Amino acid sequence: MQQHLANKQQWLLKASFTLCLLCIMVVLAMSSGSRHDYDDIVESGVLKIITRNSPTTYYQDKDQVSGFEYELAQMFAQFLGVKLEVTVADTLDDLISEVEAGNVAFAAAGLTVTPKRSERVRFASSYLDVKQKLVYRLGKKRPKTLKDLLGKTLVVTAHSSHAQHLHSLQQTDLPQLTWIERDDAEVSELVQMVENGEIDYTIVDSNEFDALAGFYPNVTSSMELGETQELAWAFSKFSDNSLLNKSREFFQLMRETGLLSQLEERYYGHLNQIDNVGTLTFLRQADERLHRYQELFQKEAVNHDVDWRLLAAIGYQESHWKARARSRTGVRGLMMLTRTTAKEMGVKNRLNAEQSIKGGSAYFAKLKKRFDHINEPDRTWIALAAYNVGAGHVRDAQKITEKQGGDPERWMDLKERLPLLAQKKYYKNTQFGFARGYEPVEYVQNIRRFYDLLVWREQPEPTYSANMDEGESFLTADSGFKTIPPLTEVK
Ligand code: GLU
Repeated sequence: MQQHLANKQQWLLKASFTLCLLCIMVVLAMSSGSRHDYDDIVESGVLKIITRNSPTTYYQDKDQVSGFEYELAQMFAQFLGVKLEVTVADTLDDLISEVEAGNVAFAAAGLTVTPKRSERVRFASSYLDVKQKLVYRLGKKRPKTLKDLLGKTLVVTAHSSHAQHLHSLQQTDLPQLTWIERDDAEVSELVQMVENGEIDYTIVDSNEFDALAGFYPNVTSSMELGETQELAWAFSKFSDNSLLNKSREFFQLMRETGLLSQLEERYYGHLNQIDNVGTLTFLRQADERLHRYQELFQKEAVNHDVDWRLLAAIGYQESHWKARARSRTGVRGLMMLTRTTAKEMGVKNRLNAEQSIKGGSAYFAKLKKRFDHINEPDRTWIALAAYNVGAGHVRDAQKITEKQGGDPERWMDLKERLPLLAQKKYYKNTQFGFARGYEPVEYVQNIRRFYDLLVWREQPEPTYSANMDEGESFLTADSGFKTIPPLTEVK
């Protein structure tokens, strides 16, 4: 009997201990969550959010931080009158766990609202409707029905809404369906793998597809999977509703003022994206537009000791020689200067062609100076890459090049590594993080092509046609080209 009583006492002790522990945990969780309630945020002056490093969320672009989600969160912070602090999660699962634990106010990360996630977090009002798109490589057999997925290599991001959709397909229509989930790769990397023919298919959201498709000419989408889904910010279940309600007010205002659709258009619309045009269009526009700016380019070329045609080629690649051009990230004017660069270069009005050309040329010359230990022509190509993606990212790619046994001062070696900055495995360990590293490679290639065309256009009698091998530069030894050696592909 005594034994029995002792056991009972022990059990009671244990039970009350466990209960206390539970209470402490709940209070702790609630108190850590409550630091992100509206009043606390206003008092501390800081809004802490979490996101992912990806082309539709948050990344370093030229000399500024960019991304749809980042800009949206920045606007919300302004709306609240506080400073934004951003943490980047490695995987989607880490991201949800951080929100769940109340370590941040919310996640702004292109998250799809799914029933499974709603068990863990509380979603705010949705700001974008998306469809899941199946991506495949042009030239391969077009997948038309779900059955065409069987027996193929299908890779998606781990813990994504795409993975969740595949699970539900497997449980219902397609029990034989198999796929691979990667949490060391993000969506642009998977699209790149489809482009390279390394995998058959991946799934991306329609907004991701819009942001990426232009950079992967061999990739397309054949079908949409499932219903339309919503993207929304995810809040902790432990916080009260004060911040979430504020976000509702904010989104309503964003909608009413048209600011939300403007932001969507900038990131996902096709209209403002400057595409690569063919040679004929280039030459036609050179006839129609270049004469307006030629003298300005020539003047700056003398000031900075560079070939004016190279500056003109940059201007064409940036804006098609349109003084009022604007890109989706808000860079503006003929030389597409960011606000920061314009300020640094003393440009007051970015839409004034003379100021833009002056500022852009000075900025390019400044970048060339930063790489003055590098021999020409590599120095020029590397400075151009920096003009496009930012010197920080170029340095990151140089470090990767060196680590891999390449020569960081050779464009040929560097251009192989720049695209790696879009792969998590690499950008995870770099100083400036994710970059669309494939862009500067294409950028430099285009400028070289435009430059060659401008030089060729100046020849009184084009003599290249009779004996020019395929792939050879339009430049000849007596083309009057001084500053930079011939612009043939450096191999
Ligand atoms: N909207 C998707 C999700 O919430 C994004 C996944 C991805 O980009 O990999 O899971």
